[in-house]
Amino acid sequence: MRITKIPCPPLGTNTYVITEEKESTIIDPSYSCTQKVLEITKNTKVKYIINTHGHPDHTWENQQLKEKTKAKLLIHKADSHLLKNPEFKLPIPFTPSTPDEFLEENKNITLGKLKFKIIHTPGHSPGGICLYEEKEKIIFTGDTLFKGTYGRTDLHHSNEKEMKNSLKKLAQLPEEIKIYPGHGSETTIGEEKSWIEKYVK
Ligand SMILES: [Zn+2]
Ligand SMILES: [Zn+2]
Repeated sequence: MRITKIPCPPLGTNTYVITEEKESTIIDPSYSCTQKVLEITKNTKVKYIINTHGHPDHTWENQQLKEKTKAKLLIHKADSHLLKNPEFKLPIPFTPSTPDEFLEENKNITLGKLKFKIIHTPGHSPGGICLYEEKEKIIFTGDTLFKGTYGRTDLHHSNEKEMKNSLKKLAQLPEEIKIYPGHGSETTIGEEKSWIEKYVK
């Protein structure tokens, strides 16, 4: 398995490409990532484009990559309307996209030998999800959990109580799990656990 991180403007959103056994999956195609993603995935079959949630900085180039790779676009149903109408004023043009399947709690996404479990983590947005691979000990947390903090809960569709419940779920994972967040640098459950436990009380 190889994970490539592409930090994208204008909000420093992390686009990730996971490659395993000649297959790849793109997580959160942000602004200006398409050429880099196509270069990284050129000798592989791109199976999925997965959005950790529906905010435009995580979905900006869904459509461009869908057309170029023919991959299936997956998002949680509760955020899927944001792919048509991002509901935020954007500094850069946005192309609407259409999901092919919906993600839901406990659904598995396979990529070669990898099996990612979907954990529904609402709070920052209603359809936020994390992608957890137990054997590889990795999780992609979108805008739910970052190094040292969590995603905004002051947006019109955010919910602080749900955020606390979602973080509680994540804090129960094994401490050695490596976190790949939607913004900023990688961390581990062990490094984040103590502030989460204080915050969710
Ligand atoms: Zn967000
Ligand atoms: Zn974001």
